Amino acid sequence: MLPVIALVGRPNVGKSTLFNRFTRTRDALVADLPGLTRDRQYGHATLNDHPFIIIDTGGITGGEVGVDGLMAEQSMQAVRESDITLFIVSARDGLTPVDESIAQQLRSENKSVHLVVNKIDGMDQNTVLADFYALGFQSVSAIAAAHGRGVGKLIENVIFPA
Ligand code: GDP
Ligand code: MG
Repeated sequence: MLPVIALVGRPNVGKSTLFNRFTRTRDALVADLPGLTRDRQYGHATLNDHPFIIIDTGGITGGEVGVDGLMAEQSMQAVRESDITLFIVSARDGLTPVDESIAQQLRSENKSVHLVVNKIDGMDQNTVLADFYALGFQSVSAIAAAHGRGVGKLIENVIFPA
């Protein structure tokens, strides 16, 4: 059985960008329009000779009715299917109330969750991370998915630790 990694978080934090980087495809829709990927999207990835399955999700908006509710449900379904969940947040936006609510939902699932702070390009990494440590996750990574920065380390430290 291949390990399964789920990408969850608010819309527009860079989940699909990271998915595309992992799978090296343009399968996941990447756009400035939040909420474009509404269903779960599965991809195969191989990094450093390690194959795994990755699931992209539409995002959790915090206003969970209608389409938003379905997206949140899909996200939590992906979490339940996964071995490791990468909870993606945006350094550009800083910590938001919706991030806090997602963190709470994830904790109630009792799964292995790793916090990934994306879009750290051009930001002061230490300042940005300090903000997010308040969420209380043991394991935190800083990346710039659009540029590949920190992504290799994320794989080595979190997904396939030696
Ligand atoms: P999703 O809704 O979480 O899947 O987010 P997307 O992957 O569609 O990305 C949303 C926007 O953020 C797009 O305009 C991306 O180009 C941009 N983005 C993604 N990763 C980064 C990053 O590392 N740095 C910056 N500055 N922008 C990024
Ligand atoms: Mg997306």
